[in-house]
Amino acid sequence: MSGPIETSIVGYKERPLKYPDLDSMRQLRNSGRELLGTFLYATEKRDGSNMTIWMRVSENGYIRFPQISSRNTTYECRTCRKVFGNKEEHITTTGHTDLIYDVAAPELTTQVLSSKSWGTTIDRGNRKAQGIVKMLLDNPTWVIFAESIPAGVGPTRIEPKHKKQDLVIFDIWEGGRFFSYNYMYQQCYHYRIPVVKLIGQGTFESMDALGLWVKDALAYSKRHRREGVVIKAYGVEVQVFVKEKIDMPERPKFVHSSNKNPQLPPLPDSEIYGAIDKVLADYGMDFLRDKRQAMPKVAEYVQYECKKHLCSLPKGSPLYSFYMTYLAAKQA
Ligand SMILES: [Zn+2]
Repeated sequence: MSGPIETSIVGYKERPLKYPDLDSMRQLRNSGRELLGTFLYATEKRDGSNMTIWMRVSENGYIRFPQISSRNTTYECRTCRKVFGNKEEHITTTGHTDLIYDVAAPELTTQVLSSKSWGTTIDRGNRKAQGIVKMLLDNPTWVIFAESIPAGVGPTRIEPKHKKQDLVIFDIWEGGRFFSYNYMYQQCYHYRIPVVKLIGQGTFESMDALGLWVKDALAYSKRHRREGVVIKAYGVEVQVFVKEKIDMPERPKFVHSSNKNPQLPPLPDSEIYGAIDKVLADYGMDFLRDKRQAMPKVAEYVQYECKKHLCSLPKGSPLYSFYMTYLAAKQA
């Protein structure tokens, strides 16, 4: 039987993992107590789209190429050249079956490809090949998680405007584990790829001490116009990652009115924009521009964030105006 030699196949046919969905500490089963006694890192949370970049092996096993995926599983149809989330629905409604799995929306792919840190694989004079493509060619079993930060304003509008689009790595995974911050930093340095900044590190014995440390990290984030912090425990059997955001209320306030519905704090604007950005990531710009299609999805995604953060929809601010502001910023 002819075919590739099994041992020469390095990379994956399918995306090996999705980045864990990050909750805040208080949403952990033991409200953060699971983080006590283990070594923690706090890194800045950058404002962009969460991309997964990995080395994919073609069906016949001969060709490896870097695959750019976004947070959810999406498909590209080779017949109509569209990216969508639901494979079965697309096949039954169009009869198209020539689908490519796990392709990010074209707008996000274009963003990623235009980033300086995407890099080059060609040595020019004394400039050595560098960047994400080179990193993956040298290390095809790594799975790179990077924030794609758009030129101009980002989805949450917390960071100052950026002159250029870029990619910033926040995690690398291999063989069932994420790299420690220090090891990831060294690798990014070697390939000249930006990496999220380390804000703090340490081990904590009490929730009070941990709480103060998080508070300091959030104050730092606010001063430096970052969305928040991601706290990571790498050195444990089950790696725990959580995120804390600067504009989320410290505790949801349940105010009971006549023992009926709890009154929840409003969802911050940045979360609404974040939800719209996820619709773009999952369905693409064509879908998002069509308001009859897009608005129900936007509402669904915002509702999901409300539920997740124990917040309510802000009163008197129709989603449509957020949607229009988001689109206007994208076209600027
Ligand atoms: Zn199609």
